[in-house]
Amino acid sequence: MSEKTLFFNHINTSWTLFLDRDGVINQRIYDGYVRSIEEFVLIAGVKEALGIFRSVFGRIIVVTNQQGIGKGLMTESDLKSIHDYMLKELNYTIDRIYYAPYLVADNHPFRKPNIGMAEAAQKDFSDIDFQKSIMVGDSSSDMAFGRKAGMKTVFVGNEETHTQPDMYVNSLYEFACMLKNR
Ligand SMILES: [Mg+2]
Repeated sequence: MSEKTLFFNHINTSWTLFLDRDGVINQRIYDGYVRSIEEFVLIAGVKEALGIFRSVFGRIIVVTNQQGIGKGLMTESDLKSIHDYMLKELNYTIDRIYYAPYLVADNHPFRKPNIGMAEAAQKDFSDIDFQKSIMVGDSSSDMAFGRKAGMKTVFVGNEETHTQPDMYVNSLYEFACMLKNR
């Protein structure tokens, strides 16, 4: 284990896990948005991963940009149906979901890479400590979000990221297994 990933051994129930949604929990739709439950497909091993995370972390929070709403391609009600379904499919292991419906052009403080969603989570759950938090995502903006908030960062997949993460994994399941077997 490299010096960079030494934080791994310190993780316990005082830590919080922040998860991106599209491309981490469910299959990403390229050049489009998940607009219905039919289009929401869990990535293999995610259910098992969340089960493991639940016994490792004190809090599990999802932070997701949902620009499809800002573009008028879907409604907040569509998103709520998808999230209700996701929470149930993942056996209610997720404490809360925060989403940013704003357009990129708005540069809203809530939209990643800005850290409004992290701050909102900390306001809602006073036990969240960003120094004891990990952001897992599949894009540069996720890594920038985590870094800006002072979290550790884990990058899923092998696409390019402009903000270097602390750690790379192939999937959420792989990350969960590493935690379980440490
Ligand atoms: Mg993503």
